[in-house]
Amino acid sequence: MELFAVADLPEIRPGDDLAALIRDRVDLDEDDVVCVASTVVSKAEGRLADLSAFPAGPRAREIAARLESISGDEKDPRFAQAVLEESTEIIMEAPFLLTESRFGHVSVNAGIDRSNVAGADLLLLPKRPSESAARIREELPADRVIVTDTCGRPFRHGQRGVAIGWAGMPASRDWRGESDRDGRELGVTVQNVVDELAAAANLVAGEGDGGTPVVVVRGFEFGDHAGSDAHFREVEGDFVRQALREWEFE
Ligand code: GDP
Ligand code: MN
Ligand code: MN
Ligand code: MN
Repeated sequence: MELFAVADLPEIRPGDDLAALIRDRVDLDEDDVVCVASTVVSKAEGRLADLSAFPAGPRAREIAARLESISGDEKDPRFAQAVLEESTEIIMEAPFLLTESRFGHVSVNAGIDRSNVAGADLLLLPKRPSESAARIREELPADRVIVTDTCGRPFRHGQRGVAIGWAGMPASRDWRGESDRDGRELGVTVQNVVDELAAAANLVAGEGDGGTPVVVVRGFEFGDHAGSDAHFREVEGDFVRQALREWEFE
């Protein structure tokens, strides 16, 4: 398996045809997985916004004041308002805002970005990243597309890439019922391949001014496994989220 970044992509603007920009710069195979940073999907979809578009309501003002008193840094209540408007559930309000986005992704500050955003205060995540992936895929010779974002995670320092949308392949391959080397049947292993590919692609894309938001994965074979599109946990089976709902920062 090989990964390489697509060279010479311009600064992406609202209305840009991302697929055409990619197509013009790389000869894609049908089997390639094209990983696209959500940042440029959002830019193309016009998800840039200014803070002035989010006049803060009482809840946002309360949250910002609390976060400001915890961190000692100034917090703009309009930013908290933007996070609230992008979210369907606030899982943690302090010491940072952890929410579920409208498409099911749990992240800090609803994944709203303030870096690599030209000409606006904020960049919101794509509204429905799997639909974005499907639209891009339609216009590419490659059959598989993943929309990625850089995300922190609990229990471990540092951030890494995750898949927030995908098209043309299942999210996971299911090893259950297959055997390990001792012939023992695997009972629980469902390998989230879109996250694993997103992490590898994100490693190549980088985080700064590299200008390489699109990475092609060539030679990845899904193999003869059952597939599953389960990706974001449902609340019912998500015991960590349930515990966090009960927990209160002091
Ligand atoms: P995120 O992980 O989706 O939030 O994206 P990042 O902000 O980390 O950017 C990922 C990569 O895309 C980095 O190499 C950036 O330099 C690059 N990048 C971000 N925006 C643009 C853009 O509009 N055009 C180009 N060519 N590269 C961009
Ligand atoms: Mn970013
Ligand atoms: Mn991001
Ligand atoms: Mn990133």
